[in-house]
Amino acid sequence: MSIERTDRVARERSRIVRWVVLGAALLFMTGITLAHQYVNVSKPAGVDALCPFGGLETLFTFISGGTFIKKTAMSALVLFGGTIILALVVRRSFCGQLCPLGALQGFFGSIGDKLFKKRPQVPALIDRPARLLKYAVLVVFTVWTWQAAELVMRPYDPWAAWAHISSAELFTEFGIGVAVLGVSLAGSLVYERFFCKYLCPTGAYLALLSKVSLFTIRRDADACIDCGACDKACPMNIKVATAEEVRSSECISCNECVNSCPAAGALEVKKPGGGAVSPLIVTVLVAGILLALVGGATAVDAFQWRMPSLAEAVEQHGGASGLGDTGGEGAGGPADVAPGGFDTSLIRGYMSMAEIAEVTGIPAEEFSATFGVPEDQLSRPMKDIKDTYGFAPEDVRAWVEERLATP
Ligand code: SF4
Ligand code: SF4
Repeated sequence: MSIERTDRVARERSRIVRWVVLGAALLFMTGITLAHQYVNVSKPAGVDALCPFGGLETLFTFISGGTFIKKTAMSALVLFGGTIILALVVRRSFCGQLCPLGALQGFFGSIGDKLFKKRPQVPALIDRPARLLKYAVLVVFTVWTWQAAELVMRPYDPWAAWAHISSAELFTEFGIGVAVLGVSLAGSLVYERFFCKYLCPTGAYLALLSKVSLFTIRRDADACIDCGACDKACPMNIKVATAEEVRSSECISCNECVNSCPAAGALEVKKPGGGAVSPLIVTVLVAGILLALVGGATAVDAFQWRMPSLAEAVEQHGGASGLGDTGGEGAGGPADVAPGGFDTSLIRGYMSMAEIAEVTGIPAEEFSATFGVPEDQLSRPMKDIKDTYGFAPEDVRAWVEERLATP
């Protein structure tokens, strides 16, 4: 006969701490990506420079040429590396404990809990093959991105859409991403973690790695009272109640099953060597690992929290591109090196013509005369004035290149 658990408070605390961490990740990342659009002084980095999948997307370009695909940066590689380390230690713990898009779906899932007494199930015949879709998304978009050397997934990305939720370009640039986001959140109301289950490429590579990770969840059949609480609690619909060990690559290490188990010692997170670890420790460990990595990278100036000015970009890359914000050729594509060694691909839409004039030495009046921009508007970011004066940052890039070639 199993002993009723007496650690109800500890389990509840663990649950609360996980939701607080997820909520903080969602708020922080939403805040920084919104600030990216509205703050022009010391402009915060954009969504792609702060996304682990952005790290995978730029990996090939980085390894082959030491540069980054436009809009990505070393910070994306650091986060990509961080998620890999986490997956090797505690499986898809990034998904269950830290991912802001996972948090968003989780919150919708909680609303769904209140709306539906009994959630409908996706028939196994559809659910099983549909879960393979995310691996196809991973392979197709990774190969396509590596070949094109640009972020081809961006228009379809629900997180990029969320990050531009208040942007004027939301429906023109991210229309499909908005649709994917809407379907994912509506789907999460009914099925929980809809995007994670079926479509997320980050979840897919973490799922593959989770097969060899150190921590696991084990069920002790002698202590189990067969109540099925773990099955009911699992947002990924994993059959925990009949498993000896949860080894499914679908498990996002949220530990909801462990926290919902009423029988002492029946379901526990096991560390290497077999000892039990509380779900609260798992949350602290996972958040601690990522914070330490990001903190370390920030300390050695390898984490881009903000977009570089043109002068900084020139200094940092010495002719190779880094972060970016506009269309046209960027890092990974051919560099547009003007005579005199200035790489015009470093010019981005968030920069001002005054800044470009200062760095290139081209008189500011020439920008005014060429693009019809009054001198008092030259210090504004080009992306904010381009529609008013009818030019594109690509035009400025091409003109600067031509102008620098003119003796
Ligand atoms: S599967 Fe994707 S969206 Fe879901 S939690 Fe993991 S990384 Fe985030
Ligand atoms: S098996 Fe447990 S830890 Fe894994 S996803 Fe389901 S509830 Fe979360």
